[in-house]
Amino acid sequence: MHGRTGRHKILFFCGLAYTLCLFSILGISVDMKNGKGAEELGRLKEAADYVDASVVEEPSKIALTFDDGPNAQCTGRLLDGLKKRGVKATFFLIGMNAEDNPDLVKRLYDEGHLIGNHTYHHVDITKKSNEEARKEIEETDRVISAITGEHVAYMRPPFGVWQKNLELEMDVMPVMWSVDPLDWTTENTDEIVNKVVTETEENDIILLHDCYESSVDAALRIVDILQKKGFEFVTVDELIIE
Ligand SMILES: [Zn+2]
Repeated sequence: MHGRTGRHKILFFCGLAYTLCLFSILGISVDMKNGKGAEELGRLKEAADYVDASVVEEPSKIALTFDDGPNAQCTGRLLDGLKKRGVKATFFLIGMNAEDNPDLVKRLYDEGHLIGNHTYHHVDITKKSNEEARKEIEETDRVISAITGEHVAYMRPPFGVWQKNLELEMDVMPVMWSVDPLDWTTENTDEIVNKVVTETEENDIILLHDCYESSVDAALRIVDILQKKGFEFVTVDELIIE
């Protein structure tokens, strides 16, 4: 019995040694295979990146901006339409309108739109003293940031006029526009849509107002047409930063 047990032991150890040896050989060959595979994969990825960069074009980015809201009658419908289309826009709010419509401010923020400052009383900054101008901006920032918890970093000066020294003093960046269909002068939706879709090019900033039903209708039709043309709507910070 002892002899057999001893033979068994020897066989057992031989088997173990063989198995360990086999595992180690297999292990090395798997490692080698993996190493080679990773190298090959890296080469393929490099080639794919090169093809991506040279052949596949990024969609042209543009930004929709809305001034003078939020508006109790129109802004909600606009937000429904933008959400349905997966579009984020930028809204430059008048401080007192924001104060009157906190739920809309919250909704703008929660749905991923960028909120900017449009002064508290919609004033011409250049016709105000520095102190008054600063108060108009700070008061609006206070109302909005109390709802969103964030400092309002961008601003659109009413009437498109701005004092450069305020920018340095106030940590706020003015954002103008490049396509203006003068939507506030007409209720003709077709006119607004046609002007915007024929003029808009890559990196353009479109100016509309979310306090008119015709502008809301126009905005949603503009999105439908320009999305089909391959444009991507982004918030202005994405245009400015990139
Ligand atoms: Zn305005």
